[in-house]
Amino acid sequence: MRQRLSSEPDRYRGRRRVPTPPRSRYAVAVTAAFAGAGVVAIGAASNFPDQKNVDPQALQAHGAVQSVDDAIADRADDSAASRSNNRGADKQQVSADQATKDVWLLPMDDYQFTSAYGVRWGKLHGGIDLAGPEGAPYKAIHAGKVTKAGYYGGYGYQITIEDAEGNEVIYAHSRRLLVKAGDKVKAGQVIGLVGNTGASYGTHLHLEIHVNGTPTDPIPFLRDRGVDIKLRVESVFAGVAAAS
Ligand SMILES: [Zn+2]
Repeated sequence: MRQRLSSEPDRYRGRRRVPTPPRSRYAVAVTAAFAGAGVVAIGAASNFPDQKNVDPQALQAHGAVQSVDDAIADRADDSAASRSNNRGADKQQVSADQATKDVWLLPMDDYQFTSAYGVRWGKLHGGIDLAGPEGAPYKAIHAGKVTKAGYYGGYGYQITIEDAEGNEVIYAHSRRLLVKAGDKVKAGQVIGLVGNTGASYGTHLHLEIHVNGTPTDPIPFLRDRGVDIKLRVESVFAGVAAAS
């Protein structure tokens, strides 16, 4: 399994464990419904030793895929329920809603950064690659409207979400899409399952960001918005604090 990672820079080779962002505060700040759906499934999948080589059948046997599907199916109900019965957190809910349009988040809780933006094999690699377990749910990193959701050649099953400023975030190589064109999504909403479709060398999420229609390096773009993809840090609290 290790050999497949041999082309990566040394700093990514090890399975470095960066402390997870304080999930409980995030759950309160954004919405309990979204965080709940993601955490259950990812928690189950993260026990696998090497995310790049997870046998889908093993994952199925593990129950992760089933629980993801169940979680998604339940989410619509939970979302409505959590609004009317949010455990007395009315004030926090209002703050979170106000802050939502400015919030940027990590797409997954547990992943390995495997490829940077830039020229690779003589071609521009227009995004970054995040390896994760087959079938793991991934989330919208920012609110917006789904402009594409379907199979697009080398990108495989792909979602494009455009935000209010016209920035586009593209999620590629999915195993399954959980949104359709025209849907409005919030930051942190589960929108698809990680896969290996299209021109993909292993199970991963290809994340691409277009500004004015042109690909840009997601690392500095997201760092400017409080998210460090490599360190797996999302600072949603700053946005919430500013709004309250
Ligand atoms: Zn890629």
